[in-house]
Amino acid sequence: MQHDPNCLFCKIIAGQIPSKKVYEDERVFAFHDIHPWAPVHFLVVPKVHLHSMAAVTPDHADLLGHMMTLAPKLAQEQGCNPYPDGGFRIVVNTGSEGGQEIHHLHMHVIGGPRPWKKG
Ligand code: ADP
Repeated sequence: MQHDPNCLFCKIIAGQIPSKKVYEDERVFAFHDIHPWAPVHFLVVPKVHLHSMAAVTPDHADLLGHMMTLAPKLAQEQGCNPYPDGGFRIVVNTGSEGGQEIHHLHMHVIGGPRPWKKG
């Protein structure tokens, strides 16, 4: 699997930098955001190094579908209240103008009782 030795999230996936793991399988890794905006805030990342949504091709459709279908399950397990009064937000910042700071594709899953620090 393709990794970038200089990438923070590749190092987290490899266990070289500690994280609070939420979930792991052969394709994805999920862990708590170090600066949470909300009571629930974790990141879902592909194990393969893709710099962003701008690197996605049709070959990645299954991987992205897997990440998207995992998000509601993990959000509920992490304490997000159920739809419709509860819920969560999925954010995928892409590129510098899109607010992306870590250049390894990641899905923010954010939820829990409001108010939140952002949004
Ligand atoms: P932004 O920082 O503007 O949200 P990104 O969408 O690139 O930009 O998000 C990167 C996220 O990674 C941030 O929410 C940040 O708190 C989180 N983060 C950075 N370093 C770590 C780390 N070591 N462990 C967990 N989360 C981290």
